[in-house]
Amino acid sequence: LLEVRSLRKSYGTGVVLRDLSLTAAPHTCTVLIGASGSGKSTLLRCINLLEVIDDGQVLLDGEDITDPRVNPDRVRARVGMVFQSFNLFPHMSVLDNITLAPRRVHGIGREQAEETALAMLDRVGLRQRAAARPDQLSGGQQQRVAIARALVNRPVLMLFDEVTSALDPELVGEVLALLADLRSDGMTMLVATHEMAFARDVADRVAFLADGGVAEVGPPEQVLADPQDDRTRKFLRRVL
Ligand code: ATP
Ligand code: MG
Repeated sequence: LLEVRSLRKSYGTGVVLRDLSLTAAPHTCTVLIGASGSGKSTLLRCINLLEVIDDGQVLLDGEDITDPRVNPDRVRARVGMVFQSFNLFPHMSVLDNITLAPRRVHGIGREQAEETALAMLDRVGLRQRAAARPDQLSGGQQQRVAIARALVNRPVLMLFDEVTSALDPELVGEVLALLADLRSDGMTMLVATHEMAFARDVADRVAFLADGGVAEVGPPEQVLADPQDDRTRKFLRRVL
């Protein structure tokens, strides 16, 4: 479903991704781990066309989406992304937050947009909070709204960037449980996280990023329990 080929991305003279290749099969959860600054966020942003890449390709369903002729809005309708900060509009209700893009960007009528939004809120367990404003919700609930908002376009791929890092510890679990649910539903997802327990229990594959590339990738029981690369071993010794 996703194929990243020899991706290169630098900011000024600082090369972040040197020659990164990674694939994700349909209905799999790939967890990205690696030291702070190893390029996990940069990779996700490149896949969602939030960054212009220097070299390489990103193929989605066989189509090179980094081709400058490709319309980024069309790609982002197929690739959902959720960030550490929920980025909800504070002055709008939960329902309006979710229906805004479908109505404005995709020209969907209010009734249909709201029906889809309510179904997604149901999915994340927050249908009864549709009329609330974000500041009336807990951080975990706000993040679940942000996930519902990303799901309304029915994306084929979901990107999650440290979606629990800004949450109080007691709220982390509900968001990780939702990600695990989405994986069980067959969503294809890339998840950058420092939550090693999530990587161990939910990931189909774990990719360890170092030196601008994927140093090691494989099932969690291999990469986390029996790493072959020295850099992976050193990293795990620090975080586990
Ligand atoms: P973390 O675990 O802390 O989230 P990360 O693996 O997500 O780290 P990135 O955020 O992708 O790492 O950053 C990789 C490198 O790129 C870092 O050295 C960072 O300073 C640099 N970088 C990221 N964004 C920019 C930018 N907009 N301009 C310049 N440098 C940047
Ligand atoms: Mg990051």
